[in-house]
Amino acid sequence: MINFNLNSLIRDNIKTIKPYSSARDEYKDITDGMVFIDANENPFNTGVNRYPDPQQTQVKKRLSELKGIPTNQILLGNGSDEVLDLIFRVFCEPYRENIITLPPTYGMYDVLANLNAVDNIEIELESDFQPNIEEILTAAHTHTKLLFLCSPNNPTANSFKAKRIEELINEFQGIVVIDEAYIDFSKKESWLSRLDEFPNLIITQTLSKAYGLAGIRLGICYASQEIISVLNKIKPPYNINQLSQDKALERLNAVDAVYNEMKTIITERKKLRKALKSIRFIEKVYPSDANFILVKVDDANQRYQQLVEQGIVVRNRTNQPLCDNCLRFSVGTEAENEKLIKTLIQLL
Ligand SMILES: *Cc1c(COP(=O)(O)O)cnc(C)c1O
Repeated sequence: MINFNLNSLIRDNIKTIKPYSSARDEYKDITDGMVFIDANENPFNTGVNRYPDPQQTQVKKRLSELKGIPTNQILLGNGSDEVLDLIFRVFCEPYRENIITLPPTYGMYDVLANLNAVDNIEIELESDFQPNIEEILTAAHTHTKLLFLCSPNNPTANSFKAKRIEELINEFQGIVVIDEAYIDFSKKESWLSRLDEFPNLIITQTLSKAYGLAGIRLGICYASQEIISVLNKIKPPYNINQLSQDKALERLNAVDAVYNEMKTIITERKKLRKALKSIRFIEKVYPSDANFILVKVDDANQRYQQLVEQGIVVRNRTNQPLCDNCLRFSVGTEAENEKLIKTLIQLL
């Protein structure tokens, strides 16, 4: 983006806000033998009687090693959902400004837009599920602050073409958020390696999918140091609890196991796609860069019900634009996938 001026995009109340200063913000140099009576904590040890590190130093340090991004360009949230909400709050003035999303896509962007009283301009993807650059740039105007690109996209499972993403980052006069929740399952490279080229780029990732930690709620935001420091100013002081920080660190220190699981899921995805193609009433199996597969069936509502009756719960996406009669299957274990296929074969 030419002539990028971050300050002109930030809401006035955020520019002047004075962040809450926690006890652990004011005194950080924790060494053994010191007495901490500054935070009204209970002194008796439960393992979690102390407030957690508000800056999640260790988790960020490990992420920084793994991803090659400095810790001051990382912000953690209580799931990507919190990260995305913070982004709305920094950039979008309620009742006045708007965002652009590209349906069919992740439902939370629209929920967060409504929550923040921000208009959501929806520009449908093209029939091949790629962003329509011309329409997006025509729809954007001075009050359009954020553009959400989910790549690989949920529920379509495809990645957007790099050239289109790059053109959008260059031409859009606001902040571009690339949601890379499924990037670990994709052959495409993450935009993290190009973060420093684009001052208006925010990349979000999560430990919920490839890292198998949906239960601890840990979302990750990567951006310029300037953007991260503004987000930091308004995040709840202790937004990542101690148990989540511990579990995240444990998993990030065992990446070999994580990579093995990812590989297995990708192998299973390939097998599952092939098997799905042979099912009589499945009309189309879309390519997948994620840990789920979108299929078009003869009657999604009927097939959804039949599967539930057989104890298999899938996601019915038939009411989404471009997703007529589409079901979304997450890739399960080998046994789960076999059960799915066996059940599908037997449906009338
Ligand atoms: C699952 C998913 C996320 C993850 O959200 P968390 O709040 O981190 O669990 C983010 N974006 C998309 C597109 C997803 O499908």
